[in-house]
Amino acid sequence: MLASVRGMSRQGWWQLARWTVLGTLGCIAISVAYNAIVFWNYPSAAFRQGLLSAIVLPIVLAGPLFFYLTLKLRELAIANHKLTVLASTDSLTGVLNRGAFAARVGALLERPAGASAASAGAFLLIDADHFKAINDHHGHEHGDQALRLIAAAIRTTVRKNDLVGRLGGEEFGVFLPGATYANAMAVAERIRTQIEQTPFRPDDRLSRLSVSIGGASFQGGRGFDELFRIADERLYVAKHAGRNRVSMAQMLETVSTRPTPSAALH
Ligand code: GH3
Ligand code: MG
Ligand code: MG
Repeated sequence: MLASVRGMSRQGWWQLARWTVLGTLGCIAISVAYNAIVFWNYPSAAFRQGLLSAIVLPIVLAGPLFFYLTLKLRELAIANHKLTVLASTDSLTGVLNRGAFAARVGALLERPAGASAASAGAFLLIDADHFKAINDHHGHEHGDQALRLIAAAIRTTVRKNDLVGRLGGEEFGVFLPGATYANAMAVAERIRTQIEQTPFRPDDRLSRLSVSIGGASFQGGRGFDELFRIADERLYVAKHAGRNRVSMAQMLETVSTRPTPSAALH
């Protein structure tokens, strides 16, 4: 208990004080009202004595009780928050895990019209190139380190409101709410370049990392499964075009889901 009190923020202290004071005042009010009703026809000295008890007792009993209860409720809320973060985070890379990523993207896509649903945006599917070879040459631990570097490079490249998740193995997803095709292309290219320039030194020897990125920019209501399928198709194109590149599909509101031919592959 002492530890949680010692490290408490100003806001925490304010919350604790507010509930302790309000709770105690509430108990005093009930106790005084009860006293006044029950002892109103008693002699005034006894009435005053009763009133004093009705004030002092709640202060002595309810004050510490409300303090303790508020403190425990706060600790519980903090523990709950930590658990939620832990359950939605990929332990190796610190980005969202697959379930949490899909749920948050789904929630953004499915918001009812008028509640600022993500009616435009982009999804990027990012897959590390020749990752099996990295594990084979440098060992699994260095492979893990490479995954952490890739995740960090992605996170530092995108904006705060964009979502980043590890979808499995050496595959990451990025959701860019509100991004246009041109925005998404620029972000994907920045991620690709950032990872290419990230120094990776397993066994003190400089080694290169690279990723291929398949993307789907969209307008209008789309489901996560559809975005994933289109991005996966573009990832396949990027891999087969030689890896370390971006391929993006533009899903327009009314017509085709085919990529814009000229700018699809970089
Ligand atoms: P490509 O360029 O076609 O994507 O080739 P790739 O080698 O990256 O793809 P492949 O699917 O053949 O291999 C993926 C590798 O990623 C194999 C697997 O051992 C490795 N991998 C998956 N998860 C982890 C992990 O958590 N840590 C490490 N170190 N390696 C992982
Ligand atoms: Mg791969
Ligand atoms: Mg893969």
